[in-house]
Amino acid sequence: MSAAATSIVLRAYAELVDFLDAPEVELPIGGPRSVKDLVEAAGIPHPEVGLLLVDGRRVGFDHLLTGGERVAAYPPFHGLDPVGGLWPSPPEPRRFVLDVHLGTLTRRLRLLGFDAWYRTDADDALLADVAVGQERILLTRDRGLLMRRTITHGYCPRSQDPDEQAVEVARRYSLAPRRAPLTRCVRCNGLLHRAHAAQVWDELEPGTRAAFDRFSRCGGCGQVYWPGSHLDAVEGFLTRIEAMTSPRGAPPPGTGPVHH
Ligand SMILES: [Zn+2]
Repeated sequence: MSAAATSIVLRAYAELVDFLDAPEVELPIGGPRSVKDLVEAAGIPHPEVGLLLVDGRRVGFDHLLTGGERVAAYPPFHGLDPVGGLWPSPPEPRRFVLDVHLGTLTRRLRLLGFDAWYRTDADDALLADVAVGQERILLTRDRGLLMRRTITHGYCPRSQDPDEQAVEVARRYSLAPRRAPLTRCVRCNGLLHRAHAAQVWDELEPGTRAAFDRFSRCGGCGQVYWPGSHLDAVEGFLTRIEAMTSPRGAPPPGTGPVHH
């Protein structure tokens, strides 16, 4: 597809195709507009974009389009192509803020040991403030929220299934080598500390007292954990993550022209 002088052609790669009806679309352009404006008008939130080529040349979001251009949009390839991308590396250690619809994904991430900010009463403005102010990766299926100007690191889980969402996020942000299961409270995001059986004895059922001798307590809410309380679920979940976090999609492009 070639673009008329009054339009541009946008080609999306890898998982960015999920936002469009087809991998390649033609978009009318009324006058000079930034490439960011055009990409978002097509439905792709800017934090999902890691690299933009216009007629084969790398450009920034502010690059002005006037008509007739071909635009190629790629997702970030963290760890593979850090130079020349549109964003700095994601925050280290990885930390997240999730919207109110992603409570189960929040608990999955905490199970893996990741700092995941979540509140059931958080509105869009607060979520954006937390993402920016605390340098957290924003996870939401609300594209409009991801399109907020201040957001840099963000991802829209494609699946509605929390386990698959966790795999998507693990793949996007290379979480597998960074995980630390059972170090964080799934209820409140607090860090867990080792506790002696005597310290938690009064809070345990008799069956638990008999079966386990290693315990931990949340430094935030006081919840007591032991291997049987979450470990089985975590192990099964980790196995799925390991099996599903192989790279997906196209390899990162070079700096040369894109051929079609
Ligand atoms: Zn807690």
